Amino acid sequence: MSTSQKFFLYARKSTDVEDKQVLSIDAQIAELREYAKRENIEIVCEFIEKQSAKIPGRPIFNDMLSKLEKGVANAILAWHPDRLARNSVDGGQIVYLLDTGRLATLKFPSFWFESTPQGKFMLSIAFGQSKYYVDSLSENTKRGLRQKVRRGEFPSRVPIGYLNDSRTKTIVLEKIKAPIVRECFETFATGKFTIENMRDFLAKKGVFSKYGKRIHQERVAYMLSNPFYYGHFKFTGEIYEGTHEPLISKKLFDDVQAIMRGRHPRHTKTKVMKPFLGLLRCGKCGMMITAEVQKGHTYYRCTKKSPANKCPEGYVREENLDIQLSGLIKKYSLREDWASEMEIRLEAEEKTLAQSARAFVQEKRVQIKVIEGKLERLLNSYLDQILEQVEYVRKKAVLMSEKKSLQEEITLLEQRHGAWLEPFRKWIGDARNMDRIARDCDLFEKKVAAEKIFGSNLLLTAKIARGSALVLYSTLASTQENGCMEPKSGIEPETSSFTCTSISPESL
Ligand SMILES: [Zn+2]
Repeated sequence: MSTSQKFFLYARKSTDVEDKQVLSIDAQIAELREYAKRENIEIVCEFIEKQSAKIPGRPIFNDMLSKLEKGVANAILAWHPDRLARNSVDGGQIVYLLDTGRLATLKFPSFWFESTPQGKFMLSIAFGQSKYYVDSLSENTKRGLRQKVRRGEFPSRVPIGYLNDSRTKTIVLEKIKAPIVRECFETFATGKFTIENMRDFLAKKGVFSKYGKRIHQERVAYMLSNPFYYGHFKFTGEIYEGTHEPLISKKLFDDVQAIMRGRHPRHTKTKVMKPFLGLLRCGKCGMMITAEVQKGHTYYRCTKKSPANKCPEGYVREENLDIQLSGLIKKYSLREDWASEMEIRLEAEEKTLAQSARAFVQEKRVQIKVIEGKLERLLNSYLDQILEQVEYVRKKAVLMSEKKSLQEEITLLEQRHGAWLEPFRKWIGDARNMDRIARDCDLFEKKVAAEKIFGSNLLLTAKIARGSALVLYSTLASTQENGCMEPKSGIEPETSSFTCTSISPESL
């Protein structure tokens, strides 16, 4: 570039509706500076205007023109002609300055201009024509989106569980739906439910489509495979790191993906819900208990599929099974006063557990640095056109996934000593709810509750459901009977102060 040319940089964005899709002033300046550097352009002064260009009389623009007249500079760099002028007066002034030689040239990263009669003609059209504005809008919109993406902002409609906060222009968690979506992931991760089940689950919890309908099965599957929930997002096929708060861990997401991959597209034509399906096993032969509908009632029975074993066990009606399960669940309900006392203890425990495995964290940080270096080099080879885009996108996705896993390991390591606290807290939340679940008539919720208490230990023998509860619940049941909470095993590591304390509200 000729050294005799001195440039003014001019950036403008107004609050006009038409300017809504235009790059922010920050983005314009960033792009222009980059452009200037690349083209070896010397900028003497930057002019930044926040006014509309629809009517003449912008103070900064006028100031720039008078300085051009004085010969402080002889060229202008702007994002696009529509940033300089969108009315015939301002446009005419620019063209006049070109004609008289005060302006040697204009440069626009998104518009071709040459100071020839044809070039000036094209420029006047760009200044005056709204048609041109419309044409350039789509390119500008794309630019704006790319800028957003680079900043880690998801440029599209947010998924269920999130909200666009128009006030702060950020993406925030939706207080009511976010926990439901998380629970949906957690429940599905157990591998015991179908997508259809999750659809019912969402409907029962009051999560519907924006038209108030049950969410479509395909959308539920889409939701369960959306990286947005662990903090990344996809934009035009590429994975980006988001700035929004993740709703679930990468680990949980990966678990869900594994289950989705392993699932065959089964014909799920079951119109009638069979909520207790997959919950119980036959006490006689060990086969799963299945369900069938007869005369409007759902019956549960042994699958009897083993040819060697013709199981004699009979049928149990759903209503009957419901009563039995409710009775079982009720036994494992945590008393409210105990629950709050345990929570207080838990919090104290958490405070004392500040120590962490620093060396491990350090090591992971180094590994992350290595990946970041790889990402940088990958981008460079892509920009240098050594790498095809398809290959770049694929490799980037792999590295990004690795990076996220490492970051998560750090989080886990940092709270390693207190790792049992969170599940335990969650358990308290579950256990204190059992009484209500037993009394409610949501059979789906009862199945989930029974799974939590008994795992896969529930048997159906002679039409009676029974099973041994998992360790926390069995301890709970026996200690609540004694009236004194003394967790013996399985709840906490040996180092925990919980082992040497007995929690009993009576003793406090
Ligand atoms: Zn059987």
